[in-house]
Amino acid sequence: MISERHLLGPGPSNPYPEATRALADPLLGHLDPEFLRVMDETCEMLRTVWGTTSARTLPLSATGSAGMEAAFVNTVHPGDVVVVAVNGLFGQRMTDVAARCGAEVVSVEHEWGQPVDVERVLAAHPAPAIIAAVHAETSTGVRSDVAALGAGKGDALLLVDAVTSIGGIELRADDWGIDIGYAGTQKCLGVAPGLAPFTISDRAFERRVQTPRSWYLDLGMLGGYVGEAGVRQGGTGQRTYHHTAPTAMVASLHAALSRILDEGLEAVWARHRAAGEALQAGLQEMGLELFAAEGHRLPELTTVLVPDGVDSAVVRRELLDRHGIEIGAGAGPYAATVWRIGLMGHNARPDAVLLALAALKDVLGR
Ligand SMILES: *Cc1c(COP(=O)(O)O)cnc(C)c1O
Repeated sequence: MISERHLLGPGPSNPYPEATRALADPLLGHLDPEFLRVMDETCEMLRTVWGTTSARTLPLSATGSAGMEAAFVNTVHPGDVVVVAVNGLFGQRMTDVAARCGAEVVSVEHEWGQPVDVERVLAAHPAPAIIAAVHAETSTGVRSDVAALGAGKGDALLLVDAVTSIGGIELRADDWGIDIGYAGTQKCLGVAPGLAPFTISDRAFERRVQTPRSWYLDLGMLGGYVGEAGVRQGGTGQRTYHHTAPTAMVASLHAALSRILDEGLEAVWARHRAAGEALQAGLQEMGLELFAAEGHRLPELTTVLVPDGVDSAVVRRELLDRHGIEIGAGAGPYAATVWRIGLMGHNARPDAVLLALAALKDVLGR
């Protein structure tokens, strides 16, 4: 028996209770009509949290990283110019994935902790095939202006990582011009890790690679997964076998999405905002310094500088041993000098804020 933890790291976060309970329900077969209904409803609710009407919106059976892979492998033709905004670890990864797909990558580098400089990204190449950016950089706790990228994208496709923004902060794929978007379940959606909510516009789908290097992630075969009818809009057409959908995980995602939409998407965003602002104010009152640029901080993921003379790893260990709280270390070059504290999904609550602050005070002796 593993003791219960407060997972306040960047991920996984504590799931919503509804999502956990769904995992204990009797298992459905992946072609059971009841499961097909759950899948159709899940895709419909995903459209709402993405802010899209695209019929090609579904949970890929793989983690967020596979969502990134699917996004690039299906849309990058060899030699395509792909402009990538890099302001942290996940932007860096995008450049690697795009290069492996044969892209001519134009990487627009930013200082970590800063938001994407939209003008510089849009000016980086006169006619890119794709512009890619991370909406919520989990490595630094920074939000970037995706709407402005969409407004200036021209003929390019806009490819966005929404892993840490979906279900936590405002996200409007259609209004903002997102053509290809991928996410994950374990951050603000409040589900265990393992699925990649994905969406692609008709425009991007028409330009896709006909025979992508990946068989499993070939979006042209998605009809076999959600059903061609599902792809066309919510019908109950014949499914063909592509792979065995992880039915328990889809049921869990269905439960979390139902809970989010019952609460109201805007209310959920407001709950994240209130929790993040309270945590950030409390940390500053303790004399700690925040890492992410002011005005661009994510409420769901707070980055804070480890004070001088404090051993980051010892503090994280004591939080875990004494209070059952997991917070994240910094990413990449900031591994030892920054902490990352998540308030995502179910954790975006006042009691989680108070617990995190009290435990840190205790361990730091402040
Ligand atoms: C967590 C994360 C990913 C990777 O998701 P996995 O589920 O760990 O594969 C990608 N991008 C961002 C911004 C993330 O926070």
